[in-house]
Amino acid sequence: MSDPRQELRDLTAAFRAHLEARARGGLLGVSLRPSPAPKPSPPSAEPDEPLTPYPTPPPVLYDEGQVMHSGRGLTALRAELGDCQRCKLARGRRHIVFGTGNPEANLMFVGEAPGADEDEQGEPFVGAAGQLLTKMIQAMGYEREEVYICNVIKCRPPGNRNPEPDEIAACEQFLRKQIAIVQPRVIVALGKFAAHFLCGETTPITRLRGNLRTFHEIPVMPTYHPAFLLRDTSRKGEAWSDLKQVMALLAHMGLR
Ligand code: SF4
Repeated sequence: MSDPRQELRDLTAAFRAHLEARARGGLLGVSLRPSPAPKPSPPSAEPDEPLTPYPTPPPVLYDEGQVMHSGRGLTALRAELGDCQRCKLARGRRHIVFGTGNPEANLMFVGEAPGADEDEQGEPFVGAAGQLLTKMIQAMGYEREEVYICNVIKCRPPGNRNPEPDEIAACEQFLRKQIAIVQPRVIVALGKFAAHFLCGETTPITRLRGNLRTFHEIPVMPTYHPAFLLRDTSRKGEAWSDLKQVMALLAHMGLR
């Protein structure tokens, strides 16, 4: 029987070769690893202050024998999360924002953390940034319910400050398990925190975006967070270019 992980490795390599050939022929404005030489970030770019490097992630399947693909697995995982008090963000939250969407989605979007609207409603990406994300998803030919949406951490940091390393360390296990359960074929990392976590590197998002990476052999496309795109609309074209690469990859996999 063929090895699905080897098939994915072969497919990713074939897709990369395909894009490189098209890029050489001037057919695509894509950039692939290795990243181009670093350029100074423009002043309007998303802030790129250095972060504590993430350790090499452990295997995504926390217990392959116990992972239940689909909604049953997510329901069990939500029960495991419970009324989580594993980090200090529990004190200020209204709701844990677990995740939403198709539990068997081919496409997963991962953001940073809930904001005020998400904390109020208990659902990720429901504010202005969420509305933009919904438009981005629809522009890719999907409905919001067809994909899976979640964040690296599940509770709102006070005043929407950046998540702190101890909070990410306490919460990241749940994102890993969500990915293990949903088994998306492609992940879109929204913003620098999700991108740095999933890509295992701290390259500034302005250079990381648009460059295909992998998280435990699942292709990851880093791009800008919708909240950043609301602040700097001139970056929307770059984000759309990233999403078009995702659409091409899904098509190459025979999924669209
Ligand atoms: S952020 Fe994560 S680890 Fe911290 S309290 Fe919320 S659910 Fe628990």
